[in-house]
Amino acid sequence: DVCVLGSFMKDLVASAERRPLPGETLHGTGFAEFLGGKGVNQAIAAARMGARTAIVGTIGEDRYGEEFLELLSSNGVDTSWIVRHPSLGTGVGLPLVLPDGGNSIIIVSRANAAITTADVEAAADVLTASKVLSVQLELPVDASHTALRLASTAGVTTILTPAPVGPVDPSLASYVDILVPNEVEAAALTGLDCNDESQVPMIARELAEDWDLRACVVTLGARGAFVLDRIGGFEERIAAHDVDTVDTVGAGDAFCGSLAASLADGAGLVDAVRLANAAGALSTTVNGAADSAPDRVAAAALLTS
Ligand code: ADP
Repeated sequence: DVCVLGSFMKDLVASAERRPLPGETLHGTGFAEFLGGKGVNQAIAAARMGARTAIVGTIGEDRYGEEFLELLSSNGVDTSWIVRHPSLGTGVGLPLVLPDGGNSIIIVSRANAAITTADVEAAADVLTASKVLSVQLELPVDASHTALRLASTAGVTTILTPAPVGPVDPSLASYVDILVPNEVEAAALTGLDCNDESQVPMIARELAEDWDLRACVVTLGARGAFVLDRIGGFEERIAAHDVDTVDTVGAGDAFCGSLAASLADGAGLVDAVRLANAAGALSTTVNGAADSAPDRVAAAALLTS
């Protein structure tokens, strides 16, 4: 079983020819709504990969909150541990997308930022009964810290996606088994450059030692992933799948959700990373965030194609 602690973000995406000037009102060229937030994306990805999945987090008593409950339930995710904040609304993201694909994004965390240590402690049963807990850094650090501590102490395998990247408290790091940074996060945490292939193993080794990890998995976008298993004592570079990419938003979350699901199912780390690499690739062939994760059959088919 997988438990995810994380964020809920309703994205209201406007497209325009350019950014508005100060004081200007500009006609946009398009509009789309997506349900996302790293927590939701990872939970849906894990559930679609076949894991019994629960999500812990905070939403508002509003329409967007209802949309999340519907999407999660229809994907089989247990929503009973979600806390509804009485006054703050559900988190929103307001991206502006330009013709060249560039963007500017305002996010307002709202209910996500209000999750308390007590809220997380109230979910101790599901956190400690899971096989794998996956956490990111979009919620207040106290909440992430509490969840990782409760789970780790109970022998649950813990995965951290260090996004958005920032300084990480060593006591939080001590509860992490598997760290899954992308290229930007790996570079920020080590000062080394992932674009230089020869540095990728060094990045994973440095993080594994500094954080005293069981494993470090660096995701490398269109170049695939690198896995270092410190317990098994091996490293492996996994090449990316060649797919028709249309939107890379959520690839890392599809990867992590899939990784968590496979590990909960008893797979070995390298097999789990191979399937996650296929899930991440397939998620880039579909627009959107939470709704772009593939199911297990599709990911397994890509793996054997
Ligand atoms: P994030 O979304 O966090 O930036 P990445 O861009 O590293 O994470 O993507 C996560 C994983 O998704 C990669 O390790 C890879 O397995 C897969 N992936 C991402 N982009 C592509 C792509 N263009 N082609 C194939 N696979 C991809």
